[in-house]
Amino acid sequence: MKIFKDRQALQKEILKSKGISFVPTMGGLHEGHISLVKRSKKSRLKTLVTIFINPKQFNKKSDFNSYPRNIKNDIKVLKKLKVNYLYIPSIKDIYGFKPKNKVFIDKVSKKLCGKFRPGHFKGVLNVVNRFLEIIKPKYIYLGKKDYQQLYLIKKHIQKRKIRSKIIECKTIRKKNGIACSTRNSRLNQHQMKIASSIFHYLFKLKKKLKVNFSLFKLNKVKIDLINLGASKIDYIENYNTKNFEKIRKTNKKFNLFIAYYIQNTRLIDNI
Ligand code: AMP
Repeated sequence: MKIFKDRQALQKEILKSKGISFVPTMGGLHEGHISLVKRSKKSRLKTLVTIFINPKQFNKKSDFNSYPRNIKNDIKVLKKLKVNYLYIPSIKDIYGFKPKNKVFIDKVSKKLCGKFRPGHFKGVLNVVNRFLEIIKPKYIYLGKKDYQQLYLIKKHIQKRKIRSKIIECKTIRKKNGIACSTRNSRLNQHQMKIASSIFHYLFKLKKKLKVNFSLFKLNKVKIDLINLGASKIDYIENYNTKNFEKIRKTNKKFNLFIAYYIQNTRLIDNI
């Protein structure tokens, strides 16, 4: 595995290859990231992973500073997976040039996490736009765990006519149902149990809603979640996964989208 810290050196190397399969991450690698890398390896193109904790997408400095970092272990994991290239840029390497494409921010950015984390998606799209320009990947692998993010990146790629194809990857969960996340490393055993019971609650709720949507009583759901141990609910909402329209009947494919806190740890999921 070749490791790059400088975009020009990286570009010089990857220009030689027939195309790149790209897996962007913020490190703190877990089974979710690993599944993306394994999927990418199947493409038969060279796999490039990036690790970059993007300061612009954190709306609180304290959240950026305390985001879990484990670069030594990440390198070990990626070497074992036989990743071809790892790019670990500095902030200057990423933000020290002017990209050709302007970021396109679809109105869906105003919903869900967009309401609670001002500037978050603008920051995400800014960095993804830059990575796409540096790497020009044939494929970019994104997890459905961050479904709103995936949707907005898709809209940006379509609008700007960028020739990279998104490969949507399913959410990887622990046996107890919790979606793998770098932030899970902050949870103790008791908090893990809370997260697990919240998953199971939502899983059952969705099953019931598929049969009878009028059972969706938002206030009751929020109270139930607090009783299960959530400290605060940012949102719990249902959306059609194709177009991010709210659904009122169960004839459409929908997911329950949630963001909640267990003490100071904010978790998101969609089920
Ligand atoms: P992150 O390092 O959290 O920015 O995530 C990097 C990529 O991994 C994003 O495309 C995420 O959607 C994806 N990802 C994170 N957690 C999971 C998971 N549990 N299952 C599948 N993909 C995931």
